[in-house]
Amino acid sequence: MTQLDYVLVGGGLQNALIAEALCQLRPTATLAVIEQGPALGGNHTWCFHAADVPAKAMPFVEPFVIERWRRQSVRFPELERTLDEPYAALDSASVQRVLGERAARGALTLYLGERAAFVGVKHVELASGARLEAKVVIDARGPELAERKHVLGYQKFLGLELEVEPGSGPSSPVLMDACVEQNDGFRFVYLLPFGRARLLVEDTYFSDTPALDVAALRTGIERYVASRGIVSRNVLREETGVLPLPRRAPLAEVGERGRFRGGYAGGWFHPTTGYSFPLAVRYALTVAESEPLELGARLERLAQRELSNQRFAAWLNRLLFCGVAPANRYSVLERFYRLPVETIRRFYAHQTTALDRTRILCGRPPRGFSLTRLIGERA
Ligand SMILES: Cc1cc2nc3c(=O)[nH]c(=O)nc-3n(C[C@H](O)[C@H](O)[C@H](O)COP(=O)(O)OP(=O)(O)OC[C@H]3O[C@@H](n4cnc5c(N)ncnc54)[C@H](O)[C@@H]3O)c2cc1C
Repeated sequence: MTQLDYVLVGGGLQNALIAEALCQLRPTATLAVIEQGPALGGNHTWCFHAADVPAKAMPFVEPFVIERWRRQSVRFPELERTLDEPYAALDSASVQRVLGERAARGALTLYLGERAAFVGVKHVELASGARLEAKVVIDARGPELAERKHVLGYQKFLGLELEVEPGSGPSSPVLMDACVEQNDGFRFVYLLPFGRARLLVEDTYFSDTPALDVAALRTGIERYVASRGIVSRNVLREETGVLPLPRRAPLAEVGERGRFRGGYAGGWFHPTTGYSFPLAVRYALTVAESEPLELGARLERLAQRELSNQRFAAWLNRLLFCGVAPANRYSVLERFYRLPVETIRRFYAHQTTALDRTRILCGRPPRGFSLTRLIGERA
């Protein structure tokens, strides 16, 4: 039996941020990360907006960052806009590299290829039979463990990382190119350039169903890329995601918060975008700044602070999925992207103010909006 200060179950985004935050803010703490896969981080590229990360969290986010951009843009049938908003990316390899180096220096212990068979309040049993005990056990086993009672729709995508002819792709991220056929709900293509010769292209849907026809989406991406004059030479990597989007605030649905369920599994994500980065950062900061004995109360306060934003974002899901016919959903986002940049920034950062909410909801209703559909059909 091993006795530690912290055991982090699941070696994904949430626990990577917690592990690095603990190494920096509590360097004498003993900690272990348990990951069932052969390496940390799975197969992901994660992005965040500069405003998603408060200044005091930046030191533990920074080591993972692999690329930064100074601006981002969106394209809709009746709107093209470039926002001078910094954006950054990290990936599974950077998570493995940073925490692998920490482990090599003895700052933490990695249990890779080890499945947690039982996760208790103060101990974890591994499938291999080992037992770890800790003052704090944080369970962040990812979206598969998330509450699914109130799922309204899905954000799903296939991403292909391409080697492209240098300079044939965009030079900064295109967060949404919605000038594409609108099938299977709101559809857009997301473009993330890494230097001049590498481009991640994600065909993304806000859909009513979780089904992902990977072969068809691959062909769709090839067609899209060619139509934009991007010359693809090789597919370097592929990633998929199917993120359930709830009709209710996920943090209000999670019972037993005393068990420290973090990340997506614990409801710490943005209900409308499915993104968890801003909340994962706040959660990690709270863990690292709290004494183990006060952690429960501090996380409960954080959850209470996030609830009103989550309720608003979950309500927007109802507007998007129930109030507007699938083919017209793009117009909700087109309208959103006409708003002042600070409202857009705070929306992504899960920090909307009352004024932001008024701006988002007031004005001309989106194309194809039906009040009857909103209150009747799926409410
Ligand atoms: C492909 C993809 C891209 C995304 N991109 C972004 C983005 O750009 N920005 C953003 O904010 N959000 C993004 N998201 C949404 C969200 O941030 C991610 O899902 C994020 O990875 C959630 O972090 P997590 O730590 O909760 O779960 P995960 O990162 O999924 O980590 C959970 C880990 O637990 C491990 N695990 C599960 N069960 C066990 C077990 N029994 N024992 C041991 N280990 C176990 C899994 O193998 C996994 O590695 C993306 C999601 C996907 C799927």
